Amino acid sequence: MNEFRYERAADAAAATQLGAHPAAKYLGGGTNLVDLMRENLERPGVLVDVTGLSAAIEEQAGGGLLIGAAARNTAVAEHRAVRERYPVLSRAILNGASGQIRNMATVGGNVLQRTRCTYFYDDDGARCNKRTPGQGCDALGGFNRIHAILGASDHCVATHPSDMCVALVALDAVVHLDGPNGARALPLVDLHRLPGDTPNVETNLHPGELITAVELPALPLARQSTYRKVRDRASYAFALVSVAAAVDVADDGTVRDARIALGGVAHKPWRASKAEAALRGRPATAAHFRAAAEAELADARPLRDNGFKVELAKRTITAVLQELTGVDA
Ligand SMILES: Cc1cc2nc3c(=O)[nH]c(=O)nc-3n(C[C@H](O)[C@H](O)[C@H](O)COP(=O)(O)OP(=O)(O)OC[C@H]3O[C@@H](n4cnc5c(N)ncnc54)[C@H](O)[C@@H]3O)c2cc1C
Ligand code: SF4
Repeated sequence: MNEFRYERAADAAAATQLGAHPAAKYLGGGTNLVDLMRENLERPGVLVDVTGLSAAIEEQAGGGLLIGAAARNTAVAEHRAVRERYPVLSRAILNGASGQIRNMATVGGNVLQRTRCTYFYDDDGARCNKRTPGQGCDALGGFNRIHAILGASDHCVATHPSDMCVALVALDAVVHLDGPNGARALPLVDLHRLPGDTPNVETNLHPGELITAVELPALPLARQSTYRKVRDRASYAFALVSVAAAVDVADDGTVRDARIALGGVAHKPWRASKAEAALRGRPATAAHFRAAAEAELADARPLRDNGFKVELAKRTITAVLQELTGVDA
Protein backbone atom coordinates (compact mmCIF):
# COMPACT_ATOMS: atom_id res chain seq x y z
CA MET A 1 0.00 0.00 0.00
CA ASN A 2 1.20 3.53 -0.78
CA GLU A 3 1.28 6.28 1.80
CA PHE A 4 -1.84 8.42 2.01
CA ARG A 5 -3.37 11.14 4.17
CA TYR A 6 -6.69 10.42 5.89
CA GLU A 7 -9.34 13.15 6.31
CA ARG A 8 -12.83 12.81 7.67
CA ALA A 9 -15.47 15.10 6.16
CA ALA A 10 -18.27 16.27 8.42
CA ASP A 11 -20.62 17.10 5.55
CA ALA A 12 -20.88 17.29 1.76
CA ALA A 13 -19.38 20.79 1.58
CA ALA A 14 -16.27 19.69 3.49
CA ALA A 15 -16.06 16.49 1.46
CA THR A 16 -16.12 18.21 -1.94
CA GLN A 17 -13.53 20.73 -0.73
CA LEU A 18 -11.19 17.93 0.34
CA GLY A 19 -12.14 15.84 -2.70
CA ALA A 20 -11.02 18.59 -5.08
CA HIS A 21 -7.42 17.49 -4.45
CA PRO A 22 -6.33 15.69 -7.68
CA ALA A 23 -5.09 12.63 -5.74
CA ALA A 24 -8.17 12.38 -3.50
CA LYS A 25 -10.59 9.44 -3.32
CA TYR A 26 -13.76 9.30 -1.28
CA LEU A 27 -13.92 6.50 1.28
CA GLY A 28 -17.23 4.87 2.17
CA GLY A 29 -17.15 1.58 4.07
CA GLY A 30 -13.82 0.76 2.41
CA THR A 31 -14.91 -2.79 1.54
CA ASN A 32 -13.87 -2.36 -2.08
CA LEU A 33 -11.49 0.60 -2.09
CA VAL A 34 -9.20 -0.71 0.66
CA ASP A 35 -8.91 -4.07 -1.13
CA LEU A 36 -7.95 -2.25 -4.32
CA MET A 37 -5.39 -0.18 -2.41
CA ARG A 38 -3.87 -3.35 -0.95
CA GLU A 39 -3.57 -4.73 -4.48
CA ASN A 40 -1.97 -1.45 -5.60
CA LEU A 41 -4.76 -0.95 -8.15
CA GLU A 42 -5.85 2.28 -6.44
CA ARG A 43 -3.21 4.68 -5.14
CA PRO A 44 -5.00 7.70 -3.60
CA GLY A 45 -2.84 10.35 -1.96
CA VAL A 46 -5.75 11.59 0.17
CA LEU A 47 -8.58 9.45 1.51
CA VAL A 48 -11.67 11.53 2.26
CA ASP A 49 -13.89 9.56 4.63
CA VAL A 50 -17.49 10.39 3.70
CA THR A 51 -19.26 8.16 6.20
CA GLY A 52 -20.19 11.36 8.09
CA LEU A 53 -22.50 12.43 5.26
CA SER A 54 -26.23 11.92 5.57
CA ALA A 55 -27.27 8.33 6.13
CA ALA A 56 -30.95 9.25 6.48
CA ILE A 57 -33.75 7.62 4.53
CA GLU A 58 -36.29 10.40 4.09
CA GLU A 59 -39.80 10.64 2.66
CA GLN A 60 -40.08 12.98 -0.32
CA ALA A 61 -43.04 15.25 -1.00
CA GLY A 62 -44.04 13.31 -4.14
CA GLY A 63 -44.02 9.93 -2.37
CA GLY A 64 -40.47 8.82 -3.14
CA LEU A 65 -37.54 8.23 -0.80
CA LEU A 66 -34.21 10.04 -0.52
CA ILE A 67 -31.43 7.75 0.70
CA GLY A 68 -28.28 9.44 2.00
CA ALA A 69 -25.04 8.25 0.38
CA ALA A 70 -23.65 7.18 3.76
CA ALA A 71 -26.59 4.88 4.54
CA ARG A 72 -25.27 1.38 5.13
CA ASN A 73 -26.54 -1.35 2.82
CA THR A 74 -28.10 -3.25 5.73
CA ALA A 75 -30.01 -0.17 6.91
CA VAL A 76 -31.47 0.34 3.42
CA ALA A 77 -32.43 -3.32 2.99
CA GLU A 78 -34.13 -3.42 6.39
CA HIS A 79 -35.92 -0.07 6.17
CA ARG A 80 -39.67 -0.57 6.40
CA ALA A 81 -40.57 1.78 3.52
CA VAL A 82 -38.01 0.10 1.27
CA ARG A 83 -39.24 -3.40 2.12
CA GLU A 84 -42.89 -2.47 1.56
CA ARG A 85 -42.68 -0.09 -1.39
CA TYR A 86 -39.49 -1.21 -3.17
CA PRO A 87 -38.99 -4.88 -2.23
CA VAL A 88 -36.77 -5.36 -5.30
CA LEU A 89 -34.17 -3.08 -3.71
CA SER A 90 -34.26 -4.80 -0.35
CA ARG A 91 -33.88 -8.22 -2.01
CA ALA A 92 -31.09 -7.10 -4.30
CA ILE A 93 -29.06 -5.79 -1.38
CA LEU A 94 -29.64 -8.93 0.69
CA ASN A 95 -28.43 -11.01 -2.27
CA GLY A 96 -25.08 -9.21 -2.21
CA ALA A 97 -21.88 -9.93 -0.26
CA SER A 98 -22.21 -11.04 3.39
CA GLY A 99 -23.91 -9.64 6.47
CA GLN A 100 -20.65 -8.14 7.75
CA ILE A 101 -19.87 -6.45 4.42
CA ARG A 102 -23.42 -5.12 4.09
CA ASN A 103 -23.10 -3.62 7.57
CA MET A 104 -20.01 -1.67 6.44
CA ALA A 105 -20.83 -0.90 2.80
CA THR A 106 -22.50 2.40 1.98
CA VAL A 107 -24.88 3.33 -0.81
CA GLY A 108 -22.33 5.66 -2.47
CA GLY A 109 -19.61 3.01 -2.34
CA ASN A 110 -21.84 0.23 -3.64
CA VAL A 111 -22.79 2.31 -6.66
CA LEU A 112 -19.13 3.01 -7.46
CA GLN A 113 -17.58 -0.39 -6.70
CA ARG A 114 -15.25 -1.65 -9.44
CA THR A 115 -15.55 -4.70 -11.65
CA ARG A 116 -14.63 -8.19 -10.42
CA CYS A 117 -12.93 -9.19 -13.70
CA THR A 118 -10.13 -11.46 -12.50
CA TYR A 119 -7.72 -10.13 -15.15
CA PHE A 120 -8.27 -6.60 -13.84
CA TYR A 121 -7.05 -7.75 -10.42
CA ASP A 122 -4.05 -9.64 -11.85
CA ASP A 123 -1.69 -6.68 -12.11
CA ASP A 124 1.44 -8.86 -12.39
CA GLY A 125 0.25 -11.41 -14.96
CA ALA A 126 -2.54 -10.04 -17.17
CA ARG A 127 -3.07 -7.27 -19.69
CA CYS A 128 -6.05 -4.99 -18.94
CA ASN A 129 -7.22 -1.86 -20.77
CA LYS A 130 -9.15 -0.71 -17.74
CA ARG A 131 -6.07 -0.80 -15.51
CA THR A 132 -3.57 0.32 -18.13
CA PRO A 133 -5.23 2.00 -21.15
CA GLY A 134 -4.00 0.64 -24.49
CA GLN A 135 -2.42 -2.46 -22.97
CA GLY A 136 -4.92 -4.99 -24.36
CA CYS A 137 -7.48 -7.24 -22.70
CA ASP A 138 -6.59 -10.78 -21.67
CA ALA A 139 -10.20 -11.62 -20.89
CA LEU A 140 -11.10 -11.47 -24.60
CA GLY A 141 -9.11 -14.59 -25.46
CA GLY A 142 -8.97 -15.95 -21.92
CA PHE A 143 -11.42 -17.58 -19.53
CA ASN A 144 -14.42 -15.29 -19.92
CA ARG A 145 -17.23 -17.21 -18.26
CA ILE A 146 -18.24 -14.31 -15.97
CA HIS A 147 -17.95 -11.58 -18.60
CA ALA A 148 -20.40 -9.46 -20.59
CA ILE A 149 -22.81 -10.51 -23.32
CA LEU A 150 -24.41 -7.11 -23.97
CA GLY A 151 -22.90 -3.72 -24.80
CA ALA A 152 -19.27 -4.88 -24.60
CA SER A 153 -16.44 -3.80 -26.92
CA ASP A 154 -13.17 -5.20 -28.27
CA HIS A 155 -11.46 -3.18 -25.54
CA CYS A 156 -13.28 -4.54 -22.49
CA VAL A 157 -15.85 -7.24 -21.70
CA ALA A 158 -16.08 -6.73 -17.94
CA THR A 159 -19.38 -6.67 -16.07
CA HIS A 160 -20.59 -4.33 -13.35
CA PRO A 161 -20.80 -6.27 -10.09
CA SER A 162 -23.40 -4.39 -8.03
CA ASP A 163 -26.73 -6.04 -7.18
CA MET A 164 -28.12 -2.86 -5.64
CA CYS A 165 -27.58 -0.90 -8.86
CA VAL A 166 -29.64 -3.38 -10.90
CA ALA A 167 -32.63 -2.71 -8.66
CA LEU A 168 -31.97 1.03 -8.67
CA VAL A 169 -31.93 1.12 -12.48
CA ALA A 170 -35.22 -0.78 -12.65
CA LEU A 171 -36.69 1.73 -10.18
CA ASP A 172 -35.64 4.79 -12.24
CA ALA A 173 -33.46 5.96 -9.34
CA VAL A 174 -31.72 9.32 -9.57
CA VAL A 175 -28.26 10.01 -8.15
CA HIS A 176 -27.68 13.34 -6.39
CA LEU A 177 -24.18 14.69 -6.87
CA ASP A 178 -22.15 17.56 -5.53
CA GLY A 179 -18.77 18.75 -6.68
CA PRO A 180 -16.47 21.62 -7.64
CA ASN A 181 -19.04 22.87 -10.19
CA GLY A 182 -22.04 22.58 -7.88
CA ALA A 183 -24.85 20.13 -7.33
CA ARG A 184 -26.70 18.17 -10.01
CA ALA A 185 -28.85 15.08 -10.40
CA LEU A 186 -28.36 12.24 -12.87
CA PRO A 187 -30.56 9.22 -13.62
CA LEU A 188 -28.63 6.23 -12.29
CA VAL A 189 -28.96 4.52 -15.66
CA ASP A 190 -26.76 7.30 -17.11
CA LEU A 191 -24.10 7.17 -14.39
CA HIS A 192 -22.17 4.09 -15.53
CA ARG A 193 -20.74 3.89 -19.04
CA LEU A 194 -20.37 1.14 -21.61
CA PRO A 195 -16.68 0.38 -22.22
CA GLY A 196 -16.26 1.55 -25.83
CA ASP A 197 -12.59 2.33 -26.41
CA THR A 198 -12.12 3.92 -22.97
CA PRO A 199 -13.02 1.24 -20.41
CA ASN A 200 -10.85 3.08 -17.89
CA VAL A 201 -13.52 5.82 -17.82
CA GLU A 202 -16.25 4.02 -15.94
CA THR A 203 -18.76 6.72 -15.05
CA ASN A 204 -20.04 10.09 -16.19
CA LEU A 205 -18.96 11.71 -12.93
CA HIS A 206 -16.95 14.91 -13.18
CA PRO A 207 -13.58 15.00 -11.38
CA GLY A 208 -14.06 15.34 -7.63
CA GLU A 209 -17.80 14.70 -7.76
CA LEU A 210 -19.40 13.15 -4.73
CA ILE A 211 -22.59 11.09 -4.48
CA THR A 212 -24.68 12.72 -1.75
CA ALA A 213 -27.88 10.69 -2.09
CA VAL A 214 -29.90 8.31 -4.22
CA GLU A 215 -33.54 9.17 -4.85
CA LEU A 216 -36.23 6.57 -5.45
CA PRO A 217 -39.16 8.16 -7.26
CA ALA A 218 -42.71 7.23 -6.30
CA LEU A 219 -43.41 4.10 -8.34
CA PRO A 220 -46.60 2.31 -7.24
CA LEU A 221 -45.90 -0.77 -9.37
CA ALA A 222 -42.67 -1.31 -7.42
CA ARG A 223 -44.77 -2.86 -4.64
CA GLN A 224 -44.97 -5.87 -7.00
CA SER A 225 -41.26 -6.18 -7.59
CA THR A 226 -38.56 -8.71 -6.93
CA TYR A 227 -34.92 -9.61 -7.56
CA ARG A 228 -33.52 -12.96 -8.59
CA LYS A 229 -29.80 -13.65 -8.72
CA VAL A 230 -28.24 -16.71 -10.35
CA ARG A 231 -24.74 -17.44 -9.10
CA ASP A 232 -22.34 -20.29 -8.56
CA ARG A 233 -22.82 -20.47 -4.78
CA ALA A 234 -25.80 -19.64 -2.60
CA SER A 235 -23.94 -16.78 -0.93
CA TYR A 236 -20.82 -14.68 -1.22
CA ALA A 237 -20.77 -14.83 -5.02
CA PHE A 238 -21.39 -12.23 -7.71
CA ALA A 239 -24.20 -12.66 -10.23
CA LEU A 240 -23.81 -14.71 -13.38
CA VAL A 241 -27.15 -13.21 -14.34
CA SER A 242 -29.61 -11.30 -12.20
CA VAL A 243 -33.02 -9.81 -12.88
CA ALA A 244 -34.78 -6.95 -11.13
CA ALA A 245 -38.38 -6.57 -12.19
CA ALA A 246 -41.65 -4.83 -11.33
CA VAL A 247 -44.86 -5.42 -13.20
CA ASP A 248 -48.40 -4.09 -13.21
CA VAL A 249 -51.13 -6.25 -14.77
CA ALA A 250 -54.55 -4.73 -15.52
CA ASP A 251 -57.83 -6.46 -14.59
CA ASP A 252 -58.20 -7.73 -18.16
CA GLY A 253 -54.87 -9.61 -17.83
CA THR A 254 -52.76 -7.32 -20.00
CA VAL A 255 -49.46 -5.85 -18.83
CA ARG A 256 -50.05 -2.17 -18.07
CA ASP A 257 -46.44 -1.42 -17.21
CA ALA A 258 -43.17 -3.20 -16.46
CA ARG A 259 -39.67 -2.31 -15.28
CA ILE A 260 -36.84 -4.77 -15.87
CA ALA A 261 -33.07 -4.52 -15.38
CA LEU A 262 -30.33 -7.14 -15.67
CA GLY A 263 -27.11 -7.68 -13.77
CA GLY A 264 -24.04 -9.76 -14.64
CA VAL A 265 -24.47 -9.21 -18.37
CA ALA A 266 -22.91 -5.81 -19.16
CA HIS A 267 -20.40 -3.17 -18.13
CA LYS A 268 -23.26 -1.30 -16.47
CA PRO A 269 -26.54 -2.29 -14.82
CA TRP A 270 -28.60 -3.05 -17.92
CA ARG A 271 -32.07 -1.55 -18.34
CA ALA A 272 -34.09 -4.03 -20.40
CA SER A 273 -36.08 -1.43 -22.35
CA LYS A 274 -36.77 -3.75 -25.30
CA ALA A 275 -38.30 -6.37 -23.03
CA GLU A 276 -40.39 -3.73 -21.31
CA ALA A 277 -41.68 -2.41 -24.65
CA ALA A 278 -42.49 -5.93 -25.80
CA LEU A 279 -44.57 -6.51 -22.66
CA ARG A 280 -46.66 -3.33 -22.48
CA GLY A 281 -50.23 -3.85 -23.67
CA ARG A 282 -49.74 -7.59 -24.23
CA PRO A 283 -51.49 -10.39 -22.31
CA ALA A 284 -49.51 -11.53 -19.27
CA THR A 285 -48.67 -15.04 -20.47
CA ALA A 286 -45.52 -17.15 -20.22
CA ALA A 287 -45.20 -17.07 -24.02
CA HIS A 288 -45.21 -13.26 -24.08
CA PHE A 289 -42.73 -13.11 -21.20
CA ARG A 290 -40.39 -15.39 -23.13
CA ALA A 291 -40.86 -13.28 -26.29
CA ALA A 292 -39.96 -10.15 -24.31
CA ALA A 293 -36.81 -11.85 -23.03
CA GLU A 294 -35.91 -12.93 -26.57
CA ALA A 295 -36.31 -9.32 -27.75
CA GLU A 296 -33.92 -8.08 -25.08
CA LEU A 297 -31.27 -10.71 -25.72
CA ALA A 298 -31.43 -10.48 -29.53
CA ASP A 299 -28.32 -8.28 -29.54
CA ALA A 300 -26.33 -10.51 -27.17
CA ARG A 301 -22.76 -11.26 -28.30
CA PRO A 302 -21.49 -14.11 -26.13
CA LEU A 303 -17.80 -14.90 -25.76
CA ARG A 304 -16.14 -18.33 -25.84
CA ASP A 305 -17.14 -19.36 -22.32
CA ASN A 306 -20.32 -17.45 -21.49
CA GLY A 307 -22.87 -18.44 -24.16
CA PHE A 308 -24.90 -20.03 -21.36
CA LYS A 309 -25.70 -16.55 -20.05
CA VAL A 310 -27.93 -15.80 -23.03
CA GLU A 311 -30.35 -18.64 -22.31
CA LEU A 312 -29.95 -18.14 -18.56
CA ALA A 313 -30.99 -14.49 -18.88
CA LYS A 314 -34.02 -15.40 -21.01
CA ARG A 315 -35.15 -18.06 -18.56
CA THR A 316 -34.58 -15.88 -15.52
CA ILE A 317 -36.54 -12.94 -16.98
CA THR A 318 -39.41 -15.29 -17.88
CA ALA A 319 -39.41 -16.99 -14.48
CA VAL A 320 -39.33 -13.71 -12.55
CA LEU A 321 -42.24 -12.31 -14.55
CA GLN A 322 -44.20 -15.51 -13.93
CA GLU A 323 -43.48 -15.29 -10.22
CA LEU A 324 -44.63 -11.67 -10.04
CA THR A 325 -47.85 -12.26 -11.99
CA GLY A 326 -48.70 -15.77 -10.81
CA VAL A 327 -48.83 -16.94 -14.43
CA ASP A 328 -48.07 -20.65 -14.93
CA ALA A 329 -45.79 -21.96 -17.65
C1 LIG B 1 -16.12 -10.77 -0.47
C2 LIG B 1 -17.01 -9.74 -1.09
C3 LIG B 1 -18.18 -10.15 -1.72
C4 LIG B 1 -19.01 -9.21 -2.30
N1 LIG B 1 -20.15 -9.62 -2.92
C5 LIG B 1 -20.97 -8.69 -3.50
C6 LIG B 1 -22.15 -9.06 -4.19
O1 LIG B 1 -22.48 -10.23 -4.29
N2 LIG B 1 -22.91 -8.08 -4.73
C7 LIG B 1 -22.57 -6.78 -4.64
O2 LIG B 1 -23.30 -5.92 -5.16
N3 LIG B 1 -21.45 -6.39 -4.03
C8 LIG B 1 -20.65 -7.31 -3.47
N4 LIG B 1 -19.51 -6.93 -2.85
C9 LIG B 1 -19.07 -5.55 -3.00
C10 LIG B 1 -19.57 -4.69 -1.90
O3 LIG B 1 -20.94 -4.53 -2.03
C11 LIG B 1 -18.85 -3.36 -2.11
O4 LIG B 1 -17.53 -3.56 -1.70
C12 LIG B 1 -19.47 -2.26 -1.33
O5 LIG B 1 -20.80 -2.04 -1.72
C13 LIG B 1 -18.69 -0.98 -1.51
O6 LIG B 1 -19.20 -0.06 -0.57
P1 LIG B 1 -18.22 0.74 0.36
O7 LIG B 1 -19.05 1.77 1.06
O8 LIG B 1 -17.43 -0.16 1.22
O9 LIG B 1 -17.32 1.44 -0.75
P2 LIG B 1 -15.78 1.82 -0.70
O10 LIG B 1 -14.95 0.61 -0.81
O11 LIG B 1 -15.51 2.75 0.43
O12 LIG B 1 -15.71 2.68 -2.04
C14 LIG B 1 -15.95 2.11 -3.32
C15 LIG B 1 -15.79 3.22 -4.36
O13 LIG B 1 -16.80 4.21 -4.20
C16 LIG B 1 -16.22 5.49 -4.03
N5 LIG B 1 -17.11 6.21 -3.12
C17 LIG B 1 -17.55 5.78 -1.91
N6 LIG B 1 -18.48 6.63 -1.44
C18 LIG B 1 -18.61 7.61 -2.36
C19 LIG B 1 -19.43 8.78 -2.46
N7 LIG B 1 -20.33 9.11 -1.52
N8 LIG B 1 -19.32 9.56 -3.56
C20 LIG B 1 -18.41 9.25 -4.54
N9 LIG B 1 -17.61 8.17 -4.48
C21 LIG B 1 -17.74 7.36 -3.43
C22 LIG B 1 -14.84 5.24 -3.50
O14 LIG B 1 -13.96 6.30 -3.80
C23 LIG B 1 -14.47 3.97 -4.26
O15 LIG B 1 -14.04 4.30 -5.55
C24 LIG B 1 -18.66 -7.84 -2.25
C25 LIG B 1 -17.49 -7.43 -1.60
C26 LIG B 1 -16.66 -8.37 -1.03
C27 LIG B 1 -15.41 -7.90 -0.37
S1 SF4 C 1 -12.46 -7.31 -19.52
FE1 SF4 C 1 -12.00 -5.18 -19.03
S2 SF4 C 1 -11.40 -5.28 -16.89
FE2 SF4 C 1 -11.22 -7.36 -17.68
S3 SF4 C 1 -9.09 -7.56 -18.48
FE3 SF4 C 1 -10.34 -6.87 -20.17
S4 SF4 C 1 -10.11 -4.66 -20.11
FE4 SF4 C 1 -9.51 -5.40 -18.11
